[in-house]
Amino acid sequence: MQETLRIAVQKSGRLYEGSMKLLKECGVEVSNGNNQLRVQAANFPLEVYFLRDDDIPEYVQDAVADIGFVGENVLVESGKQTDIVEKLGFGKCRLSIAVPKNGNIADIQSLNGKRIATSYPGILRSFLQQNQISASIHEISGSVEIAPRIGLADAICDLVSSGSTLFTNELKEIETILYSEAVMISHQQLSSGKRLILESLLFRIRSVKKAKNNKYVLLNAPNEKLKDIFALLPGIKSPTVLPLAASGWSSVHSVISEDDFWSRIESLKAAGAEGILIIPIEKMIA
Ligand code: ATP
Ligand code: ZN
Repeated sequence: MQETLRIAVQKSGRLYEGSMKLLKECGVEVSNGNNQLRVQAANFPLEVYFLRDDDIPEYVQDAVADIGFVGENVLVESGKQTDIVEKLGFGKCRLSIAVPKNGNIADIQSLNGKRIATSYPGILRSFLQQNQISASIHEISGSVEIAPRIGLADAICDLVSSGSTLFTNELKEIETILYSEAVMISHQQLSSGKRLILESLLFRIRSVKKAKNNKYVLLNAPNEKLKDIFALLPGIKSPTVLPLAASGWSSVHSVISEDDFWSRIESLKAAGAEGILIIPIEKMIA
């Protein structure tokens, strides 16, 4: 009988949608219609456990689940022993120290003797130690951003993504402690059967991630400009070139990465490319 890999994902919250979307893009069908704790994927040897994100590192460490999708921030804070297998590209945020906008704390040294509210006491404590700052840590589990206003703390250490929560609460960031995104973690000793399933899932995840980072480009160019245009197109191996019906013109197909996308498109136009079409890629198999 084939083994099943057990994966822990967040039951609801900021990582739920990204986690389910990634599994779907990997062709793994999971229906959680009845709000169940455990669901067997229809077409892949995967069993999905829906849990609170804080519990995921421990479940994976203790082999209650084999792998999990969780924020790096939660993993680091938990101190649990698991392997980080892959960064997943969603759930991006940072753990920062913020202070009242109009107060008198301008840098981390001014935190000496102050009170800092956070849900991340472990990470904050080691940051303060490393920087030889002595401040008291007030652990609270939610709505950390209101702590300064109600007089509970002088500063906060909390997750930030757009910064709008800080802005609304008249706080400003003075230091980032940790950059985080969702990661896939794994129990440190998987059976060989489970490892094979993990490799197969990982292969799909990497193909999906690679596709997201790349776009398919089609463009037309006069033949005498092709050399300059090829120099701007890395492609997977080399661009595909097809003659157009209009003589002296060709159609060029290639793949370009998302990173320097706009500057590359501008360079292509400047080099004589016309009728540029950009098409999303669904999967990219290395
Ligand atoms: P749970 O009920 O599972 O304990 P939670 O309330 O602790 O959920 P969420 O607010 O859903 O957690 O956040 C889950 C994860 O999403 C965070 O740990 C973090 O990795 C990521 N994240 C991304 N952006 C943000 C943000 N702006 N604020 C908070 N978390 C963020
Ligand atoms: Zn949580």
